[in-house]
Amino acid sequence: MTRTPVIVARYAADTTPAGRAWMLRGICADAPEPDDWHPTIEAPTDLSTRRAINICRQCPVRPQCRDYALNRPWITGIWGATTTEERARLRRTRRRAA
Ligand code: SF4
Repeated sequence: MTRTPVIVARYAADTTPAGRAWMLRGICADAPEPDDWHPTIEAPTDLSTRRAINICRQCPVRPQCRDYALNRPWITGIWGATTTEERARLRRTRRRAA
């Protein structure tokens, strides 16, 4: 049976089938703890956050995943090995550099 990656379950309705094709390659499909991508406390010291980020770091679609969330500031949780706060910081840095 094919499992649905965590990320697709979280946000599949947002894009066209072609635009979300990369999501199907996310390795969070096999994650034992899907809730790790939405930890109660997103922090480097939080066990759930660390578990999700460690899996993301091995994912072949990590860049696409991170950019997807970076372009959608309303998205929370772990995407492409980044936390909500880290993405907010990246957006601020990019705005200052532009
Ligand atoms: S980078 Fe992380 S959240 Fe994104 S698809 Fe891969 S495992 Fe899932």
